[in-house]
Amino acid sequence: MRFALVNDEKANPQPKVHGRCPHCGEEVISKCGRVKIWHWAHKSREVCDPWWENETEWHRAWKDNFPKEWQEISALDPETGETHIADVKTSHGMVVEFQHSTMPPEELAARERFYGNMIWIVDGLRSDLDLGYFRIGLGSTPIQTNPLAYAFAWSGPDRRLAGRSHLAAESSKPPAY
Ligand SMILES: [Zn+2]
Repeated sequence: MRFALVNDEKANPQPKVHGRCPHCGEEVISKCGRVKIWHWAHKSREVCDPWWENETEWHRAWKDNFPKEWQEISALDPETGETHIADVKTSHGMVVEFQHSTMPPEELAARERFYGNMIWIVDGLRSDLDLGYFRIGLGSTPIQTNPLAYAFAWSGPDRRLAGRSHLAAESSKPPAY
């Protein structure tokens, strides 16, 4: 996680600081090493959200497009009793999830059910193979130009997007082809 509560303030990890998880209230420890991105870790277990994925610079850069108050917003699922932390939840209630890794289709469906009003931002540049499939899936003509957006139909084996046919791919600059 990027944020913990330190003196009741939403705080970034700093070396040798303890805080509380804003979602479950448990003690968290700052992890400020050289390999992984600086983050907060629960003292006694994995992150309290079973859907959480370890973050990279890619996640943080995306989250930074949004105000801090909108980042890492949790809600309790009354059916499962699980807590889920949205990467971003806007003040209008839309959830934005930044997805770098693959996930089982059941989890993808469960997340969409839980969040309802949401969009996915998927890292399509993890490999040349991803990029190739991404280009195949893009429509030839943008559906709008400002911001630039294409209708998108995923055709590759990547399970992050299996069955998604109405996703719009958006970029601040035109694709280089
Ligand atoms: Zn927690």
